Amino acid sequence: MAPTVTTVTLNNGVEIPRLGFGVFQVPDAETAPTVRAALEAGYRGIDTAAVYGNEAGVGTALASSGIARQELFVTTKLWNADQGYDATLRAFDASLAKLGLEYVDLYLIHWPTPGRDLYRESWQAIEKLTADGRIRAAGVSNFQPAHLHRLLESTSLVPAVNQIELHPGLQQRELRSLHADLGIVTEAWSPLAQGAVLAEPALTAIAERHGKSSAQVVLRWHLQLGNVVIPKSVTPARIQENIDVFDFALGDEEMAAIAALDRGLRTGPDPDTLN
Ligand code: NDP
Repeated sequence: MAPTVTTVTLNNGVEIPRLGFGVFQVPDAETAPTVRAALEAGYRGIDTAAVYGNEAGVGTALASSGIARQELFVTTKLWNADQGYDATLRAFDASLAKLGLEYVDLYLIHWPTPGRDLYRESWQAIEKLTADGRIRAAGVSNFQPAHLHRLLESTSLVPAVNQIELHPGLQQRELRSLHADLGIVTEAWSPLAQGAVLAEPALTAIAERHGKSSAQVVLRWHLQLGNVVIPKSVTPARIQENIDVFDFALGDEEMAAIAALDRGLRTGPDPDTLN
């Protein structure tokens, strides 16, 4: 039987699966079979983005899955070039058409791109789309504290989620604490650091003790911190492995051993300078 993924309630009452499936770098043609494998393994959250070029593949898999729409949780993201009020409305329509959906569960501003300074206008468009019922929950991605504070000066709609790079090598303590203060859920992208941390002796030792893999230990660590995670894999065995993390728990000493692996390891762009 597929593992049951528990949910977290967002600041507007919407529930998000604590573990979903990411499709960054999955070619569109391979996306439908990959997402189908994830749905069969029990995933119900799917994380895509306009810039991944595979929203159509995601839509194909969802449509042919036979799973009721309300059981799915679909996230997509506004690309940087489409920021601004009108451009956001247009980009959202295009994403929805590719996905073949009437609404998305979560829509994120992909990057703040502070040099362009359009995220507040983009957010106003997202507020409208939310009010129109086309977005169930609105959020941001890669927002640093300064970007969140600046956004909140001009809106009463607090982002439900901030999706950020987060893994044992980059633990984002400051942002996690700010999110907790503001009622924003932390969603971890590259939760496995794209594999870069999996050979850490501290992780392999914990994995051996529990009869699990390093990847499963890392995902379990995220869940115990309260993060939502969206691991990506195109490998069927790993797709199943990554969701099989709800039947064990890490102890305080194990959580502390993983906390000690934080070393400012950014594998993706720096949100302060990506424009
Ligand atoms: P992940 O940390 O999820 O790692 C994916 C990589 O790890 C792949 O190379 C995969 O290989 C490998 N892998 C997966 N599972 C295992 C396992 N059990 N054991 C060993 N290796 C494994 O990286 P991503 O960058 O893909 O991040 C996850 C998702 O986050 C993305 O797909 C995307 O949805 C989102 N994201 C969002 C960003 C943003 O700016 N908002 C930026 C980057 C990602 P293989 O596929 O070959 O099995």
